[in-house]
Amino acid sequence: MRFLIVLLAAPAAAQVSMDTLNAVAWTQTSVEYRASAMQAWSAARRVLPQALKKKSWTAALEQTGKFKKLPPAIIVDIDETVLDNSPVQARFLLEGDGRYSTKQWEQWTSEAKARPVPGAAEFLKEAASRGVTVFYVSNRGAKENAGTKANLEAHGFPIAAEARGGLGDSVLLREEREGWSGDKSSRRAAVAAHYRVILLCGDDLGDFMPARKPREERDKDAAQYMSWFGERWIVLPNPMYGSWEDTLSGFDRSLTAEQARENKLKALRRD
Ligand SMILES: [Mg+2]
Repeated sequence: MRFLIVLLAAPAAAQVSMDTLNAVAWTQTSVEYRASAMQAWSAARRVLPQALKKKSWTAALEQTGKFKKLPPAIIVDIDETVLDNSPVQARFLLEGDGRYSTKQWEQWTSEAKARPVPGAAEFLKEAASRGVTVFYVSNRGAKENAGTKANLEAHGFPIAAEARGGLGDSVLLREEREGWSGDKSSRRAAVAAHYRVILLCGDDLGDFMPARKPREERDKDAAQYMSWFGERWIVLPNPMYGSWEDTLSGFDRSLTAEQARENKLKALRRD
């Protein structure tokens, strides 16, 4: 009884959502995570000679017009594709309420301390040495520009200083130019206007095609391109977050942790 009284008298402890714990622990501690990432970049390495040689080869749905004579480019996403941000996910759990916080995120990216995703830097350096321009199409915001570039450069990721078509350097962040929304299609189109895009690499469906739509539509649209994965499209594992998760909550980020969890439970199938 005394125990109960003490409990009731104590101030309400902040609710920490532990929904991402398993995903973050897997990413940080498992051999299986590192092996999956290595496997993705080995697939990229295997396909590179063919993609370079075959001038009719393109990986971008936005690639239109004559592109056979354009120089080759690879478009990669940054977060959970070439940089591992699982430490900020750990901070959300250990120092926050367990959910995404812009303040904690921007603090993390300003520190420029993310480690490279296993295999990413080696592959992209090899591609650059073979004459491929590497574009980083990321939904990090413009104010994260300096930290992002410093972080990439610290690990030797190749960045082109002056890309063709007046694109500036090859790190293309969200809203850096008018029309560069979170949907990455417009930035892929901007690259494809001046380069033959030979590979797309990412951890989110949005890194390959528009992904902000209901689940049935995503499933249907992606199904047409399943044979591209492991060839033109290289997908990296990320169980921690992504548009797959937003899809389950109708892209409503205002939901409480409980409501989001309820939506996930509803999405489960038992047979
Ligand atoms: Mg990503």
